Order: sequence, then C-alpha cells, then structure tokens
Amino acid sequence: MTINNPQVKRRDLLKAGVAASAAMTVGIPLSEVAKAAIQSSEGAIVWTKGVCRFCGTGCGLQVGVKDGRVVATKGDPDAPVNKGLNCIKGYFNAKILYGKDRLTQPLMRRTNGKFDKNGKFEAVTWDEALTEMANQFKRVYKEKGPTGVAILGSGQYTIPEAYAASKLVKAGWRSNNIDPNARLCMASAVVGFYQVFGIDEPANNYSDIEKCNTMVLWGNNMAEAHPVLWSRVADRKLTHKETKIINLTTYKNMSSNMADETIIFAPNGDLAILNYILREIVHRDAIDHDFVNKHCIFAAGGMDIGYGMRPTDKFAFPKEKDIQAKQNAIILSKEEAIAQSRPELAGKEVKQTQQGGKAGAHWSISFEDFKKGVEPYTLDFTAQIAKGDPDESLEDFKKKLKNLADIYIDKKNDILSFWCMGFNQHQRGVWVNELIYSVHLLLAKHARPGNGAFSLTGQPSACGSAREVGTFCHRLPSDLLVAQKPARVKSEKIWGVPEKTINPKVGRAYMEILRGMEDNSVNFVWTQVVNPFQAAPNSNHWLKAARHPENFVVVADAYPTFSCQYADLILPAAMIFEKWGLYGNAERRTQGWQQMANPPGEARTDLWMMMEFAKRLQVKDCWGEQPVPGLKVDGYTDGKLPSVLDEAEKMGIKPDMTLYDVLFARPDNLKVAWPDPDLVSKINSTTAPGNLNWFPEKALFNEYRKFTLGDGHDLADFTTYMNSETRGLIWPVVNGKETLYRFNQDYDPYVKEGGYAFYGKLFKAIPTGNLFGVTDPKPVPLPNKAKIFFRPYAAPVEQPDKEYDLWLCTGRILEHWHTGSMTMRVPELERAQANSFLYMNPKDAEKRGLKNGDVAVCESRRGQVKAIVQTNQRNFMPRGMTWLAFFDRKVQTNQVVIDATDPISEEPDFKKSAVKVYKAQ
Ligand code: SF4
Repeated sequence: MTINNPQVKRRDLLKAGVAASAAMTVGIPLSEVAKAAIQSSEGAIVWTKGVCRFCGTGCGLQVGVKDGRVVATKGDPDAPVNKGLNCIKGYFNAKILYGKDRLTQPLMRRTNGKFDKNGKFEAVTWDEALTEMANQFKRVYKEKGPTGVAILGSGQYTIPEAYAASKLVKAGWRSNNIDPNARLCMASAVVGFYQVFGIDEPANNYSDIEKCNTMVLWGNNMAEAHPVLWSRVADRKLTHKETKIINLTTYKNMSSNMADETIIFAPNGDLAILNYILREIVHRDAIDHDFVNKHCIFAAGGMDIGYGMRPTDKFAFPKEKDIQAKQNAIILSKEEAIAQSRPELAGKEVKQTQQGGKAGAHWSISFEDFKKGVEPYTLDFTAQIAKGDPDESLEDFKKKLKNLADIYIDKKNDILSFWCMGFNQHQRGVWVNELIYSVHLLLAKHARPGNGAFSLTGQPSACGSAREVGTFCHRLPSDLLVAQKPARVKSEKIWGVPEKTINPKVGRAYMEILRGMEDNSVNFVWTQVVNPFQAAPNSNHWLKAARHPENFVVVADAYPTFSCQYADLILPAAMIFEKWGLYGNAERRTQGWQQMANPPGEARTDLWMMMEFAKRLQVKDCWGEQPVPGLKVDGYTDGKLPSVLDEAEKMGIKPDMTLYDVLFARPDNLKVAWPDPDLVSKINSTTAPGNLNWFPEKALFNEYRKFTLGDGHDLADFTTYMNSETRGLIWPVVNGKETLYRFNQDYDPYVKEGGYAFYGKLFKAIPTGNLFGVTDPKPVPLPNKAKIFFRPYAAPVEQPDKEYDLWLCTGRILEHWHTGSMTMRVPELERAQANSFLYMNPKDAEKRGLKNGDVAVCESRRGQVKAIVQTNQRNFMPRGMTWLAFFDRKVQTNQVVIDATDPISEEPDFKKSAVKVYKAQ
C-alpha cells in the first residue's frame, strides 16, 4: 500500500487516522488514504511495497519512508515468497542507500580541465561527462565499428533499464556487445534450459517446497545464498518429519546443519554421481516409460569442447601457460577415458576440436546408446572418481551414493533438486544442468507439484532483467536469438527500426569483452550496476587492460567501488527505491515498485544516463555501413553490416535524428503520460532532470511486453505490477492468471493436450547420431519434446599439483551481497563479517605452520591474496580444499581464480582453482 502522496496533508492524515482506526475495529473496509492515515498517525512513516535488492529469492518488502528518506524496511507479510520474513541482508535494504560515500556527481580523470587517461578524478558536470563519453565512443566506433564498444550490465538492472540497455546496444549501436554479470552466475542454467526444453526458466515454483518430502541440494549452500528459501525448507523439515534434505557439496557448510546427509564430492565429481543415478534408474527399470515415450527423446553432444580459455598463450602470464595449453589438447586420464566410453584413449593426447559454437552441438541418440553411455558409472567406479573427503572411507561414501539413488528412484518420494552456482559455475556447467533434468525426466518427476529440477538464481532480477529481457550478447527479448532471422525481424518491427539494423553476429560474452580490452579489440566499455574488476575471475589481466591508453572505461555506480579505481569516468547512479522498477525472481515472478525517494545530489537513474547518452549520438553515427570482422551470414556481405540509412529515411527516420528520438522518445512512448494518474507516487528521477511529461519506465515496459504476449512469456501490464495489491505474478500471465507450472496441462494454458508439452522452440530440430558423433545430419523436428541427455564425466582443467597443491573454491556468504559494495557500508553487516576468511582444514593449516587467525598468502598461477585463516567455523573443509568469499575489497579473491569457463555457456568456473597457501611474512 502506498501513501507517499504529496497531496495528502499531515493534518488531514491525523484526523483521518482517528476515524480510520475506529472503522477498522468494526471491520469497515478502508480507503488507501485512510490506511495511510493510520500508519502516519502511528509514527509518520509511510509504508510502500518493494522488493529486496539482493538475491534471486525475490522477497517482498514493506519500505518505510519518512520526510523523503527510506528509513526502514521489513518483510512483507502479504508477499507469497517470504510471508513477512527477511534475512539479515534483507533487513538492511534501507541502510544501503545511505552510506557516507554515496557518489553524488560525475567524476572524470582530468588534467588542466581536459580528459586525461592519467589524470586525477575531478568533479564534472553531467554535460561534460556525457559529451566526453560520446566523443570517446565515436572515436572507437569510427575505428572499430560496433564490435569495439560494449556494455557490461547486470541481473541487478530493473527490467526497464535492462530493456533500454539492450535496445540501445542492439538497435542503436548495432552491436551485440552487451552482457550481464548473470553470465557469471547462471548462463549454464540458461543453455541447459534451451537445450533440454527449448525455452528458458524453471517449470516449478517455490510452493513446491511445501509439497515435497525430499530436497536435494547440488552445490547449493542455500542457507547462506538463499536464506529465506532456506527458512521455508527448514520449516517444511521441522513440521513434516518425513522430509529429507540431502546436501551435495565439496565441503561441509551451513546447509549441512539441517541436512539429513551431506555428501562431499570431489570437484567435477557431480558429473559422475549424476551418471551413476541415471545408470541405477536404467538398471532397476525405474523409468516412467509412458512419460518418456510420449514426451522425451535421448541426446548427446561432443566431448572435446575445451575449457573456455583463450586458444593462444599470447596474453597468458608465464605461469599460466601450462594450463592454457590444455585449451587446445589434453592428456585424457584413465578415469575420463572409461567415463567417456573410449578406454583406448587413456593416457593419449586428445585435441579439443569442438570449441566455440561447436561445443553446444548435439544430436539425438537411441535409448540403447544412452544405456551404453551411463554403463561405466558403477557404484565402485563413481565412488572412486567422486569421493571428496580423503578422511571418509570408500564404503561410507558408497553407502551415501546408493542411498541417494534410492531416494530419487522411490516412487513415494516427491522430490525437488535445487542448484545455483555449484552447477552453473562449472567447466561442464551445461552438462550438469542437463543431467539433473535427465534424472527427473526419466522418473517423470518434473513440472508437477512437489516434483521438479529447480535452478535458482543468484541476483534479484537475473531472470527478469538479464534473461527475459535478453541483455546477453546472443539474445533479444523473450528468448529470441540474434542469430535467427525471424527473431531479428520481429524485434526490428517492435522497435520500429529498419530491417537489418540488428547485427546477426552474436556479440562478445562477459569474459570476451574483458579479453577484448586486453587484446585491443574492445576499447569502449560502460559498466552498469556491476563491479567487474572485483567480480570477474583472473582479474589481474583486466585491471591492467583497463588502463591501456586506447581504452575508455565508464563505471556507473552508487558507490566508489573497486572498479571505479580503474575507470576513466565515474557516473553516480540512483539505487533501488530511488527509481521505478521491476525485478523478476527465480520462480518467474515479476514484481514492481514505485519510486519512493530521490537519489542524493546529482545521482541519476541508469535509464536517464542511457537516454541522455543517446541524445548525443545521431542515427548517421551508427546506421551507415559498418565493419563486423568475422560476420558471415546469408544475405550479408562478409565482414560488413549494410547501411540502413536509406530504409530509415523511408520510415521517417532522418540521419541527423538522435538515437534518443528513435529508440526512446517514440511517438507511442510520448503518449504515456507522466505523472501517471493511476499510480500514487509522483516522483520520478528519470523524468525530473529534463522535466519530461512522458513516463519512460512505463512506456518501455509496455513496449517490451509486446515481445512476450502469445509466445509463452506473457507479462501483465505495468500498472498491474505497480498496483499496491499485486505481490508479483508468475508468468506466463494469460487472461490475468499466472501459471504455476509450465508444460503441465493442468496448469499451463499453452498445453492443450497430452498431459505435458515441452513446447519451447529453440533447438527443436537436431541431427541423429550416437555417443561419438552425428550419423545423419538431416535435422529431425521434435515438437513438444524434452531431451534426456547423456553427458560424461570430464576432469577440471586445472588440478592441484606439486606446487599448487590445494583446491580453492569461492562464493558468497550470508551477510554480504556479491562484492560487498552495498552491504559492507552497513555497519551492522560489516561488524557481523568484516573479513573474507580463508577456510582450511585444520590439518592442512597445521602442515603449513598456520593456525586459526593467522594471516596466510593464497597464491595461484595468476596472483596472490592475503587472508585470515579460519579452520573451525562456518565452512568445514575436507583436506585438500580451501574456500574464500569475494565480497571483501581487501581480499581480491578473483585475482587468484582461473578464468576457465564452460565452453558452451561461457560462464566462468569460480569453484576450481589450484592454489598454494603459506604464512604471510
Ligand atoms: S537477500 Fe534474498 S533471502 Fe534475503 S531478504 Fe533479500 S531476497 Fe530475501
């Protein structure tokens, strides 16, 4: 409920408050103003619905505003996600807005009043900032064309911001070089969804927690990473005795405290365990044949796909070269050779020939081939590969694996499998995502109440803003792909730009943008709602690259983050409740909030920044013929994007019009009035600086909505989400009704018959083959079918050796959000956890002359950090394994972490670096 309405005077509120309180006691329904009056008379704080700024759980908030300031937040009792609860971070959503060092004006490196790459930061006006930025953009664009410029975005954008960014880059700049930090977070899940179901995002919803009797966590420390969901899990467990929780992890963590069983596996051992479960399902004939025959096919893909590193050692640090070389060829271990059904290759060199786009190629196989693929994964073989705790006996580990298979197979069990970064940040992240669906599909335990494989998201709007809007370098809104002509044509039509404006060549993914800065192929980078120089792996490379003289780096943020140190221009950004917004959480729930407070000083919304920047670019700057190295697509001259200026003229778009006119202030958008008569809040930091009388957030959201209608992604209109009564809606929203389970005829209006239909359209015509390749290249259509994949075990590219003798795994902790740029400014959270500890097994510490509380150096081939050793709290490491969080600016964890990625999803593996640890001098 909102009452931040300036027209309601305090005296009126007080008077109304007395009458309203009396009315309430006798059950008379109250108007918004009357309810507000009660609140105001109770403490002069006006409460408005909001959404938590942090994790992908997507908890609803009540946000308290007094005198134009957000003074408090509390869990929203009416929010179905959290039912009034928040976690320790969530309770401090108000305080993150008011850190003492909020950025309040643009800062540029200058000497003698002019931009100077080596100058000192000076305050400048917005006009000076944006003019220099536009000049730098034009310099790079003229020299390199669309591929030389980029935006690094985020799953923390609001949906309208994300949509604007994607449109600016793809339609305006004709570049696809925009990628969100969601690439670092759940890109492997996205590809898993695409390849298995042909459409992104989960089938199930959070209410399954209250419907199942078994939950299995796969590398998902939910107690720290999704705390309110964990409280629902705990509640289920404590109130329903039969509920079981199994925690599969590489170290004992907080989630183990509630789990019935913790299974500690070796890095990449999850691949073997999943195959073992599949083998058991096949051997015990536990397959739901009717479901599988009707709704699924079997599939496999290439095995020698590399590790997502550069194919050359030209930019590698000397110590990195040995690992980098494995990008091109590896010696196949005996275990891998057996696991991949090619024992004859054990100890032999195997070239990695299926890199790049080929890594994702897959084909249908027979059930007989699938059976052959999983056959090597006996209990003994799997245990040998996957056991992660050297101090656990093989027999005990085997018992746990068998128990796990029994639990999945037992028909009586309603089972949920959860995962997040443990699966996604994985050199074979797409494969593990696909394998868990294989388990659930074979058993027909998916997309039905209490049963499903459920991928969680890390960020508050990774689904809404990164995935659904399509801020990835390969995507357009609503699961459309830039590489597909009909998708481009549809987008160009909705966007009102000429055909062939959108570049058909997939852009650079997150790590490729950073690598481009290093090799001089990307020279203009704008970062929004993201702190890449702390968050990206192997960061010593990118820190140096940012300072190359030819690169211009713009960092838009609310605080002077670590990335700001490496910027040329810093733009002060508005934060969550200082703007209108919507987020999409991990269960497909879209939630909106109205602006409640103004940003400090001259801080502006990211949307305002993009629109103002677009005013400084003319159509003719970007829409003439452009070089695109490597572009080779039917209908295009090799290496070139055609000029669309003539076509544009025919549509009434003149060459000297600005990108602002063409992309944002379109005639239909200008009709969307600001202030909005139907909505309560009358403040808007996007419209205020230019006194706009149109409502960009609403206009852009409703334009974006056109992509979603009728194709299984349907969203409601802007006003519905902003309405004080709506607590988010799970899409597709058809005829005003949300869809709790996709693909299931009982719930999903897109399924008309047959019980289930996996109706996603992507990758639904594939060749035929066997475990080792394609036998018939002719694509066979697979309408409404899901794919049950065979994917084998493969070892991590870097493993502990004589010199770097320990594993390093990294992640988040309960008290802090990502790089700590917001939560470390909340004194209570900073006091609760001020340091990123180096978690070690006590025996490993002792062996190195270390004890709890000592400062140690953690060093890899890529760099070193110092951290305080912790051996007996929170995370309990098996021998051989260490752990660091990345929130602590003092401990630049990612300077140590390898930048190997899943070759299909290009998501980095933050969980498997080899390090050595020794006492700091
Ligand atoms: S951080 Fe996540 S779990 Fe905690 S309150 Fe926010 S959304 Fe909920």
